[in-house]
This record gives sequence, structure tokens and C-alpha cells, in this order.
Amino acid sequence: MIIDVHRHLVIKGTVQGSYIQGASRSFSMMYNKANKTDITPREYIDTIVRKDIDANADNVIAEMDAAGVDVSVTFAVDYGLLLGEAPIHIFEQNKLYAEIAKRHAGRMIPFMAIDPRRQGGLRHCERAYREWGMQGFKLHAGVGYMPDDPVCNWVYEKATEWDIPIMCHTGGAPCAPLRWENSRPAYFASAAARYPDATFIFAHAGDVGWWQEAMQAAAWLPNVYLDLSLWQKPYRKMPHKDFISWLRHLTNMVGADKLMFATDAPHPNFHCRLPEWARVFKELPKEFSEEEKAMILGGTAMKVLKLKETTAAKAVHA
Ligand SMILES: [Zn+2]
Repeated sequence: MIIDVHRHLVIKGTVQGSYIQGASRSFSMMYNKANKTDITPREYIDTIVRKDIDANADNVIAEMDAAGVDVSVTFAVDYGLLLGEAPIHIFEQNKLYAEIAKRHAGRMIPFMAIDPRRQGGLRHCERAYREWGMQGFKLHAGVGYMPDDPVCNWVYEKATEWDIPIMCHTGGAPCAPLRWENSRPAYFASAAARYPDATFIFAHAGDVGWWQEAMQAAAWLPNVYLDLSLWQKPYRKMPHKDFISWLRHLTNMVGADKLMFATDAPHPNFHCRLPEWARVFKELPKEFSEEEKAMILGGTAMKVLKLKETTAAKAVHA
């Protein structure tokens, strides 16, 4: 069972124009470095990203099939209070993600993206959880709140009550006015320590700069897990053996039962397509036991998402 615990869909109207403009500078720079090309930010959006727009996400399923990925956790990001609302309001985006997951039943697990400061956020999430079947929260504190601020408490309380995980962005940000320091793993670790019965996933395992901080949190706190999304970029830049020894070190420190395969598609997929990224983990060398490999690829995610092998397998192969 291979589970990608972190993936976004490419749907028109779900991202602010200002974000696309700002972020495309970072994304095109990274793309050029990875592929030895020289495309402009505009060309990056026009030629690389736009072709992946698909309101039904059928293309995502095709990509997952090509890579042998059984299930993807999918969610939007709530940037609205900082950047201005996207053409499609975040409440509607969440609903869209829930509907698309229904279309691809068993293949997609939708999480609710929410800025905890939003008016009506709790009511919206109650509906999204109870009526639309959304199965986790997604927080991006870079929009301007601190993860250990009491404003977030209702999210942690509901995650505990409903027994669903919280996906927390930890790591860098591609453009202003997104804040960096709010996404430090240490702040989410403080929240996780206060809510030991809530499950926290630190997205990107803290990213290239703060992975040790994320590792520290996952090593200390039983309720903190790490996703390995966005590591396609460093993987591309470092010799294969260095990536393997980094992953071995991380596994030694926190255990394979804390690590989860992930992409953060679409952008990192343009650097390293999904089949290749999945192969890196499917073909981990002998330093990793078969059991560790299975945990990282999907076993840990099954536990975190509370999936049963039989139901998941049935859904996938129905
Ligand atoms: Zn993401």
C-alpha cells in the first residue's frame, strides 16, 4: 500500500493571482536548477502548471496509477485572510475537495484547509467533517498566526474529539507576505505537547532548514509524525547516497513508524515526477528493512489515517 499523505489539486480559481505571481519566481528558479532550463516565471506557470489544471482530478488518478500510489490525501491551503480571498472561497474549495474525493472514492482522502482565525470556521469545519466526510485539518501558519496561540485551540480540540490528524505546514515559504517564523516546527511542537491526544503531521519534515527541529519534535512527542513531501528538491541536488544516509539517520532517530511518503504535488512533481519519487522509496537499499520500507510507503499513514488494509485495498481495486 502506497499512500501520498500530502497533495494539492490544480483547480482554476483556488489560488490568488498575487500568490501565483510571487511564488512563480521561486518555483521557476527551483525548476530551472533541477532541469537545467532557463524558463521565466511566466513561462513556468503558462507551460508547466497550466497543463495540469483539471477540475475533476482525473489526471491525478492517472498519475497515481502510473506511480503505483493507491491513496492520496488532498487539501487546499487557506491563504485568504492574508492575501485576499481566492476567486473560489476557501469554504467552497473545501467542499470541492470533498466532492472530488467522492468522485474518486477510496483513492483520495480530503482534509479541510482552515485559518483558525476565520469567522464561522468552526461551523464550517463541523459541516465539512460531519456532512462531507473530510478527515483531517490543514494549517498554514505562515498566513500570520502562531501555532501555539490560543486562537488555534478549537482546531486542536476538534481534532482530538473527532480523532482526525492535523497537517501542519513546517518549513519555508515562496514569497512575501507569507511569514517564515510562524512555520517553525518548534511552535507546532509546543501545540502538540499541549494536545497529546491530537495527531500532528509536520509537513515537509521541517523542510531543508528545520528538519532537525522537526526530527526533535517527532523523537520526543508520541503524537508528532513527519511527511517527506518537498524533499524531491534536495533529492535532486544531492548524491543519491547522501539522500539515503539522511533518510537512514532520520529513521534511526524517530522510527519508520513516524515517517510518511508524500509529494506536496503539483510543484515538486515537476522536478521529480511521481513515478520516480515513489521508486526512490520502493527501491530503498538494504540499509532499510522491508518492514521499514512498508511503514514509510504507507503503513504509518494507514495508522495515522485509521485505514484498514482490507477496506483501503477494496476501495482501490473496486
Ligand atoms: Zn502543501
